[in-house]
Amino acid sequence: MQPEIWNDIIKYSLSKGIIDEYSYNIWFKDLNVDIKNDKIVVKFPSKIMKDKFETSFFPQIKEALKEFNGNSPEFEFAIGRTSSKKNISNQKSDSNKNANDKSLESKAYTKNTTTKKTTKYKKTSKLEHTFFKYNQIDNLNPRYTFENFVIGKNNEFCAAAAQRVAKYPGQNFNPLFIYGGYGLGKTHILQAIAKYIVTHYPEKNVVYMPVDQFINEFIYALQNKQMEFFRLKYRNADVLLLDDIQFLEKKDASMEEFFHTFNILHQSQKQMVFTCDKPPKDLKDFEDRVRNRMEWGLTVSITQPDFETRMAILRKKAELENREVNPDIISFIAKNVKSSIRELESALIKIFAYCDIFSIDTTKISLEQAKEILKDQLKYFNETRIVQVEDIIRRVAEVFKVSTIDIKSKKRNRSISLARNVAMYISRELTPTSTTEIGLSFGGKDHTTIIHASNKIAKLMKDDKILKATIESIIKDLQS
Ligand code: ADP
Ligand code: MG
Repeated sequence: MQPEIWNDIIKYSLSKGIIDEYSYNIWFKDLNVDIKNDKIVVKFPSKIMKDKFETSFFPQIKEALKEFNGNSPEFEFAIGRTSSKKNISNQKSDSNKNANDKSLESKAYTKNTTTKKTTKYKKTSKLEHTFFKYNQIDNLNPRYTFENFVIGKNNEFCAAAAQRVAKYPGQNFNPLFIYGGYGLGKTHILQAIAKYIVTHYPEKNVVYMPVDQFINEFIYALQNKQMEFFRLKYRNADVLLLDDIQFLEKKDASMEEFFHTFNILHQSQKQMVFTCDKPPKDLKDFEDRVRNRMEWGLTVSITQPDFETRMAILRKKAELENREVNPDIISFIAKNVKSSIRELESALIKIFAYCDIFSIDTTKISLEQAKEILKDQLKYFNETRIVQVEDIIRRVAEVFKVSTIDIKSKKRNRSISLARNVAMYISRELTPTSTTEIGLSFGGKDHTTIIHASNKIAKLMKDDKILKATIESIIKDLQS
């Protein structure tokens, strides 16, 4: 096993044409590379090989690293296959054997210790830290692909832009800025782009990172004087995908570093994609120059999915889990859980988990049972997210300039009737409440009255564009 940083350097040299694949197979593949005192120690099987490396490849590698970053890590070249034997004699490892982990760890940084025990701790050497893994794609969720991403009105523009960026990285919108609320698919689509590029353009260096991790790495690099490795990773990306960019707010030093990374990558037309929980203009604590750059490319949003999309997502999820579920349960969940896809999924997963625990076939579970299983979760949704009938009545009353008492009354005055019917229609659309219960909120009306009223409004909306727009705007207000 060669240390990660060495692999990175070799990869970088291959990408710059300093080493070709043939030389790589002959000279580099099986080299014994180690890290000691934050020096990269390369051991060659013979003097000839060592000399060849030092004269033919090393000067260029060093130059390239310098050019890239203004600095190069320190190297040491030696001869010999194994790293242990030679050093064991001149180290004080025995005294370390019983030392606690912490002191061993620090000694691994500073001393030339290579006993078994210290070998274990060698892994923590600063240079070898996996933070600086070059091609950062191991952290991708295998399920977050384009194939598994259901497209609806809420995300179709975003999905189209993401696919284009994935197919033609660096050629279209740079950066692509994706924003939207919690659990609506930002991370999923970002990782889908990463996966697509890694699969279709294996030569590209793709770096996907949650921004909090980017910040951690940055702080780590700063504290340990390893900025060159940090930069080696980020500034050499062909595709940089940063998730939850809002976390850079108020992180001045990280933001500064991000700013320079952005400029370098943008200048060389390297694709960047960012996700965020708000549009660029609302990133109040971003420096102007950074916020400004976020808008250089294309900004797209992901909003809450409509009922049809929620149904499709649940079906997809069941399909991915290889399960069949009673369609009434799917539509019950889709109707009740509206705010986040994560919560939509978690309701379905809860049903599956219940079935597993009690060895029930998912096709056999009834809607009533499902309601019981989800009772607590839906109560939470009702309390925190789902619009209440009372809110709807209040809002409609305001917009139609009537009183809530009038809406609940039996008055048949035209404007009051219209407001009442609209409120009934919206209540049926937005709440999971049954028509019987909605009827009760409207001063004890029959459930057929609710059905009749909402059908009437649905029909009117087809021809009356103003009424349609008014209702849509009330719905939007209520949901925000
Ligand atoms: P965000 O990053 O916006 O908070 P995530 O990307 O983590 O949201 O999505 C939450 C969950 O919902 C994930 O399991 C994801 O796979 C799923 N999801 C989101 N959008 C879709 C979609 N359009 N199709 C299928 N699954 C989706
Ligand atoms: Mg996310």
